[in-house]
Order: sequence, then structure tokens, then C-alpha cells
Amino acid sequence: MINLSQVVISPKEIQEVLSVFKSGHLTQGKKVAEFEEKFALYCGAKFAVAVNSGTAALHTALVASGITQGDEVITSPFTFIASANSILMAGAKPVFTDIDPVTFNIDPSKIEEKITKKTKAILPVDLYGQIYDVDKVKEIAGKYNLKVIEDAAQTVGAQYRGKKAGSFGDVGCFSFYATKNLFTGEGGMLVTNNKKIYELAKMFRHHGQSEKERYKYYGLGYNYRMTEITAALGLEQLKKIDLVNSKRIENAKALSNGLRSVKGLILPEVDTNYKHVFHQYTIRVTGEFKINREQLAQYLKKHGITSSIFYPTPLHLIPHLSENGYKKGDFPEAEKVSQEVLSIPVHQHLRLKDLNYIVNTIKMAAKQ
Ligand SMILES: *Cc1c(COP(=O)(O)O)cnc(C)c1O
Repeated sequence: MINLSQVVISPKEIQEVLSVFKSGHLTQGKKVAEFEEKFALYCGAKFAVAVNSGTAALHTALVASGITQGDEVITSPFTFIASANSILMAGAKPVFTDIDPVTFNIDPSKIEEKITKKTKAILPVDLYGQIYDVDKVKEIAGKYNLKVIEDAAQTVGAQYRGKKAGSFGDVGCFSFYATKNLFTGEGGMLVTNNKKIYELAKMFRHHGQSEKERYKYYGLGYNYRMTEITAALGLEQLKKIDLVNSKRIENAKALSNGLRSVKGLILPEVDTNYKHVFHQYTIRVTGEFKINREQLAQYLKKHGITSSIFYPTPLHLIPHLSENGYKKGDFPEAEKVSQEVLSIPVHQHLRLKDLNYIVNTIKMAAKQ
């Protein structure tokens, strides 16, 4: 079976995790501090705050950026649900705007019409491993004095004009969930250059407790602390991430070269200013293809290849998020691509023969 993702833990990683158990210090200590320092440096940001999930990173980033009850935050309807749920968790309202069907990321030309007096931030998502349209989004944010909180959960190490994901806005948020390019099982991190956001974030993840004075609280906080076990694994993962991303990029090239001639498929496109790290390699199966998307997924499964749909329902059509009056037809691009996308294996453990097999199986499906 060729799976969509494959978790491989090296002996060195196991050794590092074991050394945490032996140390007797299990949560938020030296390893976490070291992971934060190295992660910030890697992203080209001044500060990093480690937390226990990508969702916790988003929630913390929003609150530390001053987003609160009654505020509106503009985001994409075509993303993982945590992008929007974190806005609700901060007490704010997610306001959706349609995507660019080529990049799958928020379409900046549609943002301004959504801005109201209540809008406080834009939360762009770097979908599948590719950074959003930074220049245009930042231009709008500057014009209306909005915060930019980046959901870079899928893009550790991705670049735009030579700068790393998560480093363009006020805060960048990452996830280390088990299937992500850099994984620790569960885990997350936020990066920022803003000292105030940094200080607030550190308190928020620790019950709102002051870092300097124990049992002194600045306000409501959560327990979003990272364990030393997670950080030990994360530090090892960070050493490998560039290699992992290079391999994924190489695999994506092989898939694209193999599939280019197949009628009815739209393949990922990467503009020259971007380094796409292929958290997912996502094709669009259009009406021109021989069989429909569900049939293709079935065909691949029958031939030992897993594929998956990220994401089958745009967020504005999910019940608790559609409460704000959204309905079918509101975001035609997001709705259209959600019917067409299919992510196929691209991970770093695939061999050339696996990639050829994937390409040939899809070509066979096209000839049925
Ligand atoms: C994975 C992911 C998250 C959430 O991260 P968790 O670590 O699972 O909480 C948020 N946004 C996007 C786009 C993601 O892919």
C-alpha cells in the first residue's frame, strides 16, 4: 500500500525522547526553550512560542494580537476547520472570502469588499505547502490597519521571495501534527517579531500566568504548554526539515512530469517567487477526465494507493460556521475546487518506482 503519509521515527529521535524520560523533566523546560530558539531562527523571526497544537497556536496568536469578542477576522473558506474555529475560540467572527483556484489560497482582490468597521485581522492560510499572496494581502492590511495572522500549519520551510513562511505578518502559526512535514504527533508553534505579542502569548499558554511572578495572572489563559518529549522530537525533526521538503519537491516534479499529458487533470502550479513544500500534492479532476474524482480515488485504492480529499466541504457550508448567513453559491471557486481536488502521495519516503507506479495507475484510469 502506498499511503498518503508515512510516519518514520529514526533511532536518534527515539534516543532523544528517551533522554527526556531519563532526565525526569517532562514538560516545558530546557528542550522547549531550545526548540523555540532554533525554530525562530529557522523561520527568520525574533521570537517563538511553543504550544501543544497548531490550533492552540492560532488561538494564542489571535488573542495575543488583541482579537476579541465582536471582532471580525477575514479568512479562507477552503482550509482545515481549525483556521476558522480558532477565530471563534477568540470570540470573534470568521468572515470568509473566496479563493484563487490556481493557488487554492485567499484571493486578495476579494478581501476589501468584506472589510467592515469590525474587521481587525486577516488570517491567510498557506494551503498544501504554498504561501499566500503576501504582497497584496499585506498592502490591504496596511491600508486598513489590520493584523495579519498567518496559518502556516502546512508550510514549515516554504518560501516567498527567499523569506520563510510565517514571517510575513504579525504572527505565523505552525502545526506539528503527525502528518505534517515536520511532525511531533501533536504540537504547534507561533513566531513573531512583536515583543508584546510574544509576552502575551507566553502568558496565555500558561493559564494567563506571569512568567516573572508565580500565581500572578493577567487574565484568562489556557494550558497550551508543550512537553519536553515533544520538543526533543521537534528539535531532531527541525534538523531534517530542509531535506524532507527537498525530497517532496523532487517527488512533486516527478508526478507533474508524469501526469502533464493526461487530459482532464489540473496539476499544481508554482510561481517562480515561491518555494512550495508540498505538504500535499493536489490535483483537480475535472469533467474532462475519463472518470469522476470518486471513481479515480476508488481506482487508486483498488491498486494500493491511498488518496484523500482536502477538503470536501468549504467551511461556510459547515453548520456551526454557516450560522452567519452563508449559503451555497457564496464562494463559487471554493465550492468548485472542493468537488475536484484529490491529494495523492508525495511524501519523502516514496521511491522512484512508487512515483512511476502512481503516475502509471492514474494513466490507466484515464484510459478506462
Ligand atoms: C493541521 C492544521 C491546523 C491545525 O493544527 P493542529 O495541530 O491539528 O491543531 C490548522 N490549520 C491548517 C491549515 C492545518 O493544516
